[in-house]
Amino acid sequence: MPLDHDQIELIRANIRGLVKEFDLEYWRQKDKKKDYPWDFKDALAKGGWLGMFMPEQYGGMGLGLSEVGVVLNELGQHCGFNANSVFQYYVFPPGPVIHHGSAEMKAKYLPALARGEIMMCFGVTEPDCGVDTSRIKTFARRDGNRWLISGRKVWISNAQNADRILLLTRTAPRDPARPFDGVTLFFTQLRGKKGAQITAIDKAARNAVDSNEILFESFEAHDDEIVGEVGKGFRCLIDGLNPERIAVAYTTIGLGRGALNLTVQYAKDRIVFDRPIGKNQAVAHPLADSWIRLEAAELMTQKAARLFDEGKPCGPEANAAKFLGTEAGFQACDRAMQYHGGYSYATEYHIERFWRESRLLKIAPISQEMVLNFISDKVLRLPKSY
Ligand SMILES: Cc1cc2nc3c(=O)[nH]c(=O)nc-3n(C[C@H](O)[C@H](O)[C@H](O)COP(=O)(O)OP(=O)(O)OC[C@H]3O[C@@H](n4cnc5c(N)ncnc54)[C@H](O)[C@@H]3O)c2cc1C
Repeated sequence: MPLDHDQIELIRANIRGLVKEFDLEYWRQKDKKKDYPWDFKDALAKGGWLGMFMPEQYGGMGLGLSEVGVVLNELGQHCGFNANSVFQYYVFPPGPVIHHGSAEMKAKYLPALARGEIMMCFGVTEPDCGVDTSRIKTFARRDGNRWLISGRKVWISNAQNADRILLLTRTAPRDPARPFDGVTLFFTQLRGKKGAQITAIDKAARNAVDSNEILFESFEAHDDEIVGEVGKGFRCLIDGLNPERIAVAYTTIGLGRGALNLTVQYAKDRIVFDRPIGKNQAVAHPLADSWIRLEAAELMTQKAARLFDEGKPCGPEANAAKFLGTEAGFQACDRAMQYHGGYSYATEYHIERFWRESRLLKIAPISQEMVLNFISDKVLRLPKSY
């Protein structure tokens, strides 16, 4: 049952209250020092927000993507992408476990995730295959009553602090006729376990949440850690992809709004040629244009979220929302850079951080090109190009 307008506004007001303690300066320092925001994560946990998307039977709030989107939008706007990432890694990576995990797995780990007592990461991307996921090489080999996993993953966020990893492996060689078969998903202990060498990547943005290369060498996993069935892991993973795209759209619209709000204030305050720069239509019109594009992108995102929450197919809408949200969000941040002039480069104005963060979302978790590939192929039925 979707929440009504007043309930949604209550969520918004609660999040606005919570983020007052974690202002833009807090996030500037965390990003600069590459320091995981434990106090912010604890505040989310205390309010029950980390379990927002988790079914009530596992201790969560059991809310939908439409409500989660309100939180992502507010965090993006008032804090930036580091805050969204802290929240997001509790909301979407558990999806395959919720839908395909064994009863024991769910009972043991989902309530702990909802309370924020454990942390997880999501291990899909590999250095040698990029967006062509069926070509992953990380291989899980049977060895008596256990599995031994060897291979390399890259960009795995949260791995420095994660207790467990959702790890996509091959358990059979790739068959070109059925490229996504023979892939198995494990949900296994990562922290303190032999066989995983985790190296942080020095990156351009979202530095309070780490991203890592992980080298697996005979990393042990067990049958009771398999999500779904052996060889059918990709199907379990795919359930989580549409919500992730919708979430990214909400996030990047939030980033765009945050940058736009700062810029509108700056355009009123900054006097050049004896007048506020916002009096020039060359400044005002692009800001007005960004407001319109962010609103339009949010409508598509709300449509996608509503379809998802109603259990209806939403692939085209989720992809369109990700595309439109990212374009509008990044454009607003880029314009914010332009109209802050030289001060945009001073980190104390926070604009450059919004800009770096929104740029990332054109590339990850799915690139704009791959969204266009999806629409060309699956919606327009053009010959498949990839
Ligand atoms: C900060 C950060 C955090 C991340 N966190 C995680 C995480 O937690 N877990 C995880 O598994 N992954 C994570 N990723 C990985 C992310 O999902 C990938 O970087 C992203 O999917 C792109 O893959 P790639 O970098 O290998 O690009 P590539 O596959 O090398 O592609 C390079 C470019 O070529 C384009 N391209 C390739 N093929 C085609 C084609 N057929 N048609 C048109 N264009 C094409 C792509 O769109 C892209 O623009 C993260 C990445 C970053 C940067």
